Amino acid sequence: MYKRIHNFSAGPAVLPEEVLLEVQEEMLDYRGHGLSVMEMSHRSAPFQEIIDNAVAAVKRIMDLADDYEVLFLQGGASTQFYMIPLNLCPDGEVANYINTGSWAGKALKEAQKMGKKMHVAASSEDKEFTYIPRDFVLSDNPAYLHITTNNTIRGTEYKFDPETGDIPLIADMSSNFMSKPVNFRKYALIYAGAQKNIGPAGVTVVIIRKDIIPRINSGLPTMMSYNTHIEKGSMFNTPPCFAIYVTGKVLKWIENQGGLKAIEQNNIRKAKCIYDILDNSRFYRGTVVREDRSMMNIPFRLPTEELEKKFISESTAQGMLNLKGHRSVGGCRASLYNSLPLKSAQVLAEFMLDFEKKNR
Ligand SMILES: *Cc1c(COP(=O)(O)O)cnc(C)c1O
Repeated sequence: MYKRIHNFSAGPAVLPEEVLLEVQEEMLDYRGHGLSVMEMSHRSAPFQEIIDNAVAAVKRIMDLADDYEVLFLQGGASTQFYMIPLNLCPDGEVANYINTGSWAGKALKEAQKMGKKMHVAASSEDKEFTYIPRDFVLSDNPAYLHITTNNTIRGTEYKFDPETGDIPLIADMSSNFMSKPVNFRKYALIYAGAQKNIGPAGVTVVIIRKDIIPRINSGLPTMMSYNTHIEKGSMFNTPPCFAIYVTGKVLKWIENQGGLKAIEQNNIRKAKCIYDILDNSRFYRGTVVREDRSMMNIPFRLPTEELEKKFISESTAQGMLNLKGHRSVGGCRASLYNSLPLKSAQVLAEFMLDFEKKNR
């Protein structure tokens, strides 16, 4: 037997136990082929089936038709920070960003580094990124508007889709990807590193609406161009085969749970365990405005930094890992991604109440 901890990591994060067991079972002999997926040619029929099934599952789960391309790329969400302006911001146009925290800030800096004109259409920096701006002002000749739908470090989340009319809306959905139903069709490009919500590290899902393909810059190095990966079905070069394979299993798990509606219900229940405590406590303090708080990443503070240290060491000793806040903001943070069992959220909630009683 094995013992699993309660894993509140912000990423790489917890995966469904069923998925891990299936991977284990198929490790030495993948479905009678006599080898593991790690050892398999990416040009082989079994691997082609794995990637085709994963693409189809993404489209089914997100209710996307054939007007979208689904890519599995390498380099993490961070590589998308510069691929997006390179591919989709031609000279004479302006890359627009809403700045809602560290990741959004990194994305907009890359646009500048690529020599693009960049415009901050809205920002929540005035209040330390504790809210999501409702209004924004686009520049002249906007190439696109980029948003970060869930701010992993600050713990804010978009609960609405900004209205941009004909201007392509682009979203970094890394930390709330497939956590709830979204009107995905409003987005021209969506990307997400798999390691937060849908798989292991090493693969990034990029979803591109076909109507923006003609806008793609044709003068880029081969690997930098979305066109290459679209034309070659994510297999211009060797893709991250094993990460795609495990992600495919998590996608199947999402469908077996009942899809995004069911996943959302589960996520609401888990987040409620923790937010109910924050809302009713004078000991714990949430750090963002209520309307914009994230269902995935919940930062909170205790009365003193000493107590925060004690909280983290005692929770760790009791099998709850990774509750330390991001080093840039301090405090505590619980990440409650899709695959985190409800039980883990309940165990944390009980611990929090108990800790408050003993240390108040
Ligand atoms: C983790 C994260 C990233 C960075 O992802 P990498 O795959 O490590 O490059 C980018 N954006 C958001 C919102 C994230 O949470």
